[in-house]
Amino acid sequence: MKKLFTLACCLLAVSATLVDTTAAQKKLKVVTSTTDLHAIAHEVGGNRITATAISAGYQDPHFVEAKPSFVLQLRDADVFAFVGLDLEIGWMGLLIDGARNVRIKPGGSGYLDVSKAIPVLDLASGRVDRSQGDVHPLGNPHYWLDPENGKRIARLYKATFTRLDPAGAAEYSRNLEAFEKRLDAARSRWAPMLAQIRGKPVVAWHTSWRYFANYTGMNIVGFMEPKPGVPPSAQHLAGLVQTMKRTGAAVIIMEPFYDRKTADRVAGFAGAKVLVLPPSVGGIKGLKDYIALLDHDIKQLSNALK
Ligand SMILES: [Zn+2]
Repeated sequence: MKKLFTLACCLLAVSATLVDTTAAQKKLKVVTSTTDLHAIAHEVGGNRITATAISAGYQDPHFVEAKPSFVLQLRDADVFAFVGLDLEIGWMGLLIDGARNVRIKPGGSGYLDVSKAIPVLDLASGRVDRSQGDVHPLGNPHYWLDPENGKRIARLYKATFTRLDPAGAAEYSRNLEAFEKRLDAARSRWAPMLAQIRGKPVVAWHTSWRYFANYTGMNIVGFMEPKPGVPPSAQHLAGLVQTMKRTGAAVIIMEPFYDRKTADRVAGFAGAKVLVLPPSVGGIKGLKDYIALLDHDIKQLSNALK
């Protein structure tokens, strides 16, 4: 009898292990193109998903090397979430082709073009054309820098994860609600800082700060690049210095991966200063989640404009 009891215990233990393993295997595997999409996927997916990002937060997301290891990540992914609007045009196609995974191909159940959930800024009015170097021919893809869009991204994830994993519906709803609550609390904290920023003239290197400007109310009077992705010419910068003097723009905002020396030179002529801001989660050490990123950038900007 004792032997039988021991055997039953063993069987129970074995079956419990099997159940655990099955549960672990059922986690949705989410791969994202950027760290921002990765961070928000984590907020909504919680323990029901595993998530990895392809580009690092300190890289220019327009230019990411399509490494073979990324193909491996995508091979068994359930979801591939990307920014869209051609941000990843240089590398995404190669990875999707290499992965041979129908779920993440266009039209597949896990092919998630996040831009579809976003009201896009800077939509081209005329012919769509990259020949002059404009890297945003389909509109501005840097939409995650507005917390309202952060919420839109989170809601899209909730709908997508629930569709692919209906058993997790309640958990995804709870996670979304908790994320939105934390974001709203952060927005209350940011309100006095936004009062410092609103209406102030600034210059940005790339048009990546357009959505951020929409939210914060800073007034971008010019860009270092004559067109998104086109390096600044001397003539363009001379005109920009004049604009900065005329408008009193005191700050040039740039990402860590642009040319600091050129920004310093322009700032010197215009009597302004350069503010390097990370545009993505992980852009500098310690920026581990989406709210931390916005928190950091809003604080830095408001201090610079004081
Ligand atoms: Zn861009």
